[in-house]
Amino acid sequence: MQDNLINVAYIFAAILFIMGIKMLGSASTAVRGNRISSLGMLIAIIVTLLRSGLDYRFITLGLVIGGLVGLIAAKRVQMTGMPELVALFNGFGGLASLLVGWSEFEKSAEADWFLYFVVFIALLIGGITFSGSIIAYLKLSGKIGGNAVVFPLQKLINLLVMTGAILAGFLLVFNVGENSSLLVWLLIGLALLIGVLGVIPIGGGDMPVVIALLNSFSGLGAAAAGFVIMNTVLVVAGCLVGASGLILSIIMCKAMNRSLINVLFGGFGSGDTASGSEVEGEMKALSVEDSYYVLEAAQNVVFVPGYGMAVAQAQHVVKELSEILEKNGAEVRHAVHPVAGRMPGHMNVLLAEADVPYDQLCEMEEVNSIMPTVDVAIIIGANDVVNPAAIEDESSPIFGMPIVNAHQAKSVFVLKRGQGAGYSGIVNTLFFRENCRMIYGDAKATISSMVAQFDN
Ligand code: NDP
Repeated sequence: MQDNLINVAYIFAAILFIMGIKMLGSASTAVRGNRISSLGMLIAIIVTLLRSGLDYRFITLGLVIGGLVGLIAAKRVQMTGMPELVALFNGFGGLASLLVGWSEFEKSAEADWFLYFVVFIALLIGGITFSGSIIAYLKLSGKIGGNAVVFPLQKLINLLVMTGAILAGFLLVFNVGENSSLLVWLLIGLALLIGVLGVIPIGGGDMPVVIALLNSFSGLGAAAAGFVIMNTVLVVAGCLVGASGLILSIIMCKAMNRSLINVLFGGFGSGDTASGSEVEGEMKALSVEDSYYVLEAAQNVVFVPGYGMAVAQAQHVVKELSEILEKNGAEVRHAVHPVAGRMPGHMNVLLAEADVPYDQLCEMEEVNSIMPTVDVAIIIGANDVVNPAAIEDESSPIFGMPIVNAHQAKSVFVLKRGQGAGYSGIVNTLFFRENCRMIYGDAKATISSMVAQFDN
């Protein structure tokens, strides 16, 4: 296929990517946006395969194996396991960039500083993304401890390893040709080490931010690989992933009132951060039967879903209960905190899966403005995102994080299995308030029982 035609098709694919990403910004257009971006990718793949001089045997083998692994993984993964899957996908993206850079380096007959420069970037970013993502996957899946690992002189060691990698890259680019194979090996080793050292000091609750950042890295690695093989669409797609991953990381940090630097180097969750003031009072339990009388009389109800709703897969029964409450004359809203769950948009995805109407989904600020008029706030497996300590207790590690002000509602029902803390490991002062009642049990079972109460 002619080069000009290929480039026109690539530009068309890039336009589809950008349109798709724009549509992903709103729940009502997200599905269409996903399809449009996928179409762009399909066009890019087909056009690339039409280039002359390709060996289709290996490409077919790669497509079949990769396609099968991706299909099985995507079908089998639970919603709660999504961050781990994304971590693995990022890691393999990074590995692919590293391998592309490496193979082009081995193939290059003539040393050219620009080629060596982009090979250096592809090896560095690809290597960091690969090993960092594998550590993130192992942490998130519980295969190794999820806490932040900190040790003496850690930052200095990280700085030295990073400096070593940049020096190796500098020598590779400016002494083109001399000992370059050795430098490439050194560079790969150091990049892999940086990935490991960079992710181990990051603790549990911050891991989703790291995943978004590694996603951004995998995009930048792909863009570098695009320069290595001079493929326009790979450069464009890589830059789009790089930019969107970075924007997402910043949004997540803002929602937790943290800076990216603090997330990356703060050692949050290393064990000495989960303090905060002592809480007075006691948690008061309520039975589902007794909760019925309050719900039956409620005119204004807000559901606040969190990670526990994902674990319990309670979204469908939540929809059922919200319909019953509406029929009973109540105004119903679902308050979505930007970092509820374990990945951005986690709650939106679950509620959309259960067909909860988009106009019932409210952002945190919107719902907070009417919270004092709400009769009942039903917290479904949310914890940190409704912890008033974040706005009231300056000594709390999560102080400053914006929350859904569920404590301001007239009554608060908290649906959770026991007295366990949230992901940050901090006591929730909401549970001890006068207007709060704990309804213990798996969220899906509890809400099903509430629905049954209305049916009787
Ligand atoms: P939390 O992790 O704070 O709390 C979840 C609660 O769910 C637990 O207290 C648990 O209590 C309960 N739970 C677990 N399983 C069930 C079940 N089957 N039925 C009922 N309850 C259950 O969740 P939040 O959503 O409130 O907060 C998210 C956390 O993740 C925050 O700390 C946030 O900063 C962090 N985070 C999220 C990101 C994102 O993108 N979403 C990004 C970065 C960080 P019990 O064990 O007693 O049942």
